[in-house]
Amino acid sequence: MAVIRGRRAFLGLAGMVFLLGALAAAWMAPVAAQSEAAPLRVVTTTAMIADGVRAIGGERLASVDSLLGEGVDPHLYKPTRADVARMLRADLIIGNGLQLEAQFQDTFDQLVRSGRSLVFAAERLPKDRLLADAAYQNKPDPHVWMDPDLWIEVMAQVRDALVAKDPAGQASYTRGYENYAERIRGLSAYAKSVLSGIPPERRVLITAHDAFGYFARAYGFGVIGIQGVSTESEAGLRRIEEVVELAVARKIPAIFVEASVSDRNVKAVVEGSTRRGHDLRIAAQIYSDSMGTPGTYEGTYLGMIDHNATTIARALGGEAPERGLNSRLGTGS
Ligand SMILES: [Zn+2]
Repeated sequence: MAVIRGRRAFLGLAGMVFLLGALAAAWMAPVAAQSEAAPLRVVTTTAMIADGVRAIGGERLASVDSLLGEGVDPHLYKPTRADVARMLRADLIIGNGLQLEAQFQDTFDQLVRSGRSLVFAAERLPKDRLLADAAYQNKPDPHVWMDPDLWIEVMAQVRDALVAKDPAGQASYTRGYENYAERIRGLSAYAKSVLSGIPPERRVLITAHDAFGYFARAYGFGVIGIQGVSTESEAGLRRIEEVVELAVARKIPAIFVEASVSDRNVKAVVEGSTRRGHDLRIAAQIYSDSMGTPGTYEGTYLGMIDHNATTIARALGGEAPERGLNSRLGTGS
């Protein structure tokens, strides 16, 4: 008992020394921040936001982590204890908002109550820029990254959140934002150009879930999401039949699948079309709610949207270089 007690006392002392060291470091940090980078630790929910934070914050940031990894469905993901710990350690937490991170609500409430800096970048957009989501009682559609021009506005909110937390870095964040926005404008022009080559009657995106509303608005597409309908119910079968009807009537050549969504309905539509003598093929996967593998081109925001625009243009009868935007810039990926 005495030994244990002694040990505890020792640990207590060691802990105290550690704490004093940490306090001393904390005292000294602001002094260092005036001449060097402020060591801001930023945690984001989606990887798309993290990509922007890195581009805008650059070397001024100590770390940028995103909680939602590749292929994760943000509508369903519940934060783990490790996620909560990461958010508690962060100086700034940036979410998408508009209830994209539906399972985070309790955690977000707690973080706000405990005085943490939490910003929802998409919720700061003007209301008239948002679409209503028919699948969610006409609440605002959260998939704003699908329109690059709109995403530039979301990134302006990210810049402002960084400046508010670290005013000394204003010039640096503004520069980072301008560079990033310029690259996204280039992406936007590329997407407009390749997608406008698709014959108008084929500008219909048949996909598993309703993530492409902003894409549709930006590029003049119709969009049909078939997630949620069950092929085992009358209504579900009727819905599948309607989609088949449309694909056949408009001679739509391709249907799209996403990583995180079951492709059963997609297959039902393809089979229905085949029975009607129309060859509808399943195109290469496109990205909806998460980006590709970290460290690859598709694991960046630009790469994700470039991949989607290029894949959709090629699959629906438009013309796009096989390697997308990069082959135009001549940089390769
Ligand atoms: Zn979604």
